[in-house]
Amino acid sequence: MFVLGAVFGSFACCQAWRWRYRIQGKKPLGKRSVCMSCKYTLKWYDNVPVISWIMLRGKCRKCGKKIGYAEILSELGLGTAFAMIGHVYVVPTIYYWTVLATKPMSLAILVATIVLLLIMLVVLTILSVYDAKWGELPVLLLVLVVSLGAVILGLKIWTTILDDGDVLQLLISAVSGVAILAGVCWAIYKASNERLMGGGDWILALAIALAIGDWWLSLWAMFLANLLGDIIMMPSLIQKGNHVLHFGPFLMIGFVLAIWLGSALPSLFNL
Ligand SMILES: [Zn+2]
Repeated sequence: MFVLGAVFGSFACCQAWRWRYRIQGKKPLGKRSVCMSCKYTLKWYDNVPVISWIMLRGKCRKCGKKIGYAEILSELGLGTAFAMIGHVYVVPTIYYWTVLATKPMSLAILVATIVLLLIMLVVLTILSVYDAKWGELPVLLLVLVVSLGAVILGLKIWTTILDDGDVLQLLISAVSGVAILAGVCWAIYKASNERLMGGGDWILALAIALAIGDWWLSLWAMFLANLLGDIIMMPSLIQKGNHVLHFGPFLMIGFVLAIWLGSALPSLFNL
């Protein structure tokens, strides 16, 4: 799962650059990856996630220009995120496969949820890289990630109905989660006159809250995103004075940690 995540992390980082070029109306970069400085076309051995970056010490093989930290961080980050989803979803699903197979519909929904979660994490990584590099969030990608979050919540509601669970309680919990995550981000965005938080952040928070579908875990995601954001960004915020915090990457970290903490599967299937 880590290797798969690292490969998609590499893909996500390239996609951020491609979106940037598309939005700015520049000539597309072509099919193969190139050095952003000298346009050297990368060979396959320059493209191995994590390993190539370390071997090249973060520099272009040809011109020696620095590649940047977004590449290695997105590969390591998404690799770790995939490994964590593997831990709480994929491993238990394989382990309890024969038990779960007695309810084929529930199993199908569970597998669909895992796949959609992984796709959502890839899109969130593209958004995080884009946010960290250029301080913006492309609207189309935000729409995509909110849609994914809504479908994941829809699947959770469906599972609850199949298990004769309390749908109303789930809906109240999910809506409360949206209020906690997206509501607070929106309030900070408005109250600070768009200085402390970007306009896209509350939409990103909305997508995450929908996918979590639980007020308690949404609170955890919010708390962890803020805590990590403060610890990591505070030194540079103080140094540069008034500066917008690019909250996107931290929201994603909070999201993954909340899912991991929630270990949704056992409670979901009462195993
Ligand atoms: Zn180069």
